[in-house]
Amino acid sequence: MIDFQLTQEQIALRDKVRRFALEEVLPVSKKYDRSEEFPRDVLEKAFKAGFMNLGIPKEYGGAGYSAIETVVVVEEMAAACAGITTSAYANDLGAKPVILMGTETQKRKVLTALTEKLRFISFATSEPNMGSDVAGLQATCERDGDNYVLNGNKFFITNGDVADFIVIFARLKGTKRHEGICAFIVPRDTEGLSTGTPMMKLGHRASDTAVVMLHDARVPAENRIGREGDGFLLAMLTFMHTRPAIGAMATGLARSAMEYAINYAKQRDAFEQKIASFQSIQHIVADMYARIEAMRLLTWKAAWLLDHGQGAEANLASSCAKLVGAEDAMRIATDALQVYGGRGYLEQYAIAKLFRDAKLFQIYEGTSQVQRNIISRYLFKDYQPVIKTF
Ligand SMILES: Cc1cc2nc3c(=O)[nH]c(=O)nc-3n(C[C@H](O)[C@H](O)[C@H](O)COP(=O)(O)OP(=O)(O)OC[C@H]3O[C@@H](n4cnc5c(N)ncnc54)[C@H](O)[C@@H]3O)c2cc1C
Repeated sequence: MIDFQLTQEQIALRDKVRRFALEEVLPVSKKYDRSEEFPRDVLEKAFKAGFMNLGIPKEYGGAGYSAIETVVVVEEMAAACAGITTSAYANDLGAKPVILMGTETQKRKVLTALTEKLRFISFATSEPNMGSDVAGLQATCERDGDNYVLNGNKFFITNGDVADFIVIFARLKGTKRHEGICAFIVPRDTEGLSTGTPMMKLGHRASDTAVVMLHDARVPAENRIGREGDGFLLAMLTFMHTRPAIGAMATGLARSAMEYAINYAKQRDAFEQKIASFQSIQHIVADMYARIEAMRLLTWKAAWLLDHGQGAEANLASSCAKLVGAEDAMRIATDALQVYGGRGYLEQYAIAKLFRDAKLFQIYEGTSQVQRNIISRYLFKDYQPVIKTF
């Protein structure tokens, strides 16, 4: 059966998070964008309201939301501020490897720590010389008795500077490409782990992005997630679960950009009439609306497949949701800025921030090119054409 309706409970959840986003996130969105401060007080409120740790199961104190519920929450939060949402959702990204492959002991320790008070967990594959090519990561891990010794640098790590735990991906010395990558839960206070000052960014300025350095950092072997060599698969499985949320963030941002554009078009005069009366403006917003509907449906489909355990299909749908979401959010933010004319270029109007924030969706959690690689790999390998004779 195909059902595009949210349940009554999901609608109530959407309304609750929407209220929270409008009352607590939107009013401070500009302030944090300007100051580039970490929005701890808003995140504390989001934590208390149950809008963080969305996918952490209830038995560990999390919200226990399904993938569908998660994307509903994320869209509403991002409609108010994508940067604050990136900060909040980073816990779901960091916790996912533990949920997917962690032992019961690891789950009790880490997931419970994240839900008993406001704490942060980061996810770290990227390095100064590697982002898209996860199999090419160079940080190393070496077994030494009951420990592993980690060395190398991680780059662009969301919440890296404020995290209590960082899931670090590193390779066993002497291994190549996918085979020897391991994932570790590394407590922030581990000797040998240090972080750089937060990086200044074009957008998502309310999120902390930091370098994480490892110099002979010793991590107990019991902190390894999965078996030796499971790291690459674990990173890819994590992205499969988290990319729909990036599609949802993109949808939320695009929705706001459209609403700002419509509102502005109704007020702005040119040639003795409202610019909303020009068909070219009407068509711009019509395209925005149609695209936003498509973005949300793709996101929901990917989330639905995840909720129904459809692994391979979900992976493809996750990439489609992220690709279309990211590309359309950028396009819609650009078009909304155009509707504003010169004022769109001024920081005093909300649209400039949306334009800057939209760009990141095309980059993190796998660039748009990487999503196209995943989709085209499927098309040239496993896709079954309907037409058999050409
Ligand atoms: C604000 C921010 C937050 C981030 N947060 C995190 C985080 O929390 N954890 C984490 O691990 N990482 C994080 N990242 C890193 C992010 O995932 C990487 O920036 C991204 O994967 C791209 O890697 P790169 O920057 O090294 O670009 P590169 O991999 O060097 O790519 C450069 C360009 O080449 C293209 N390209 C590369 N390979 C191919 C290919 N095979 N085919 C076609 N085109 C290709 C890319 O699409 C891109 O356009 C974050 C990045 C930013 C900017």
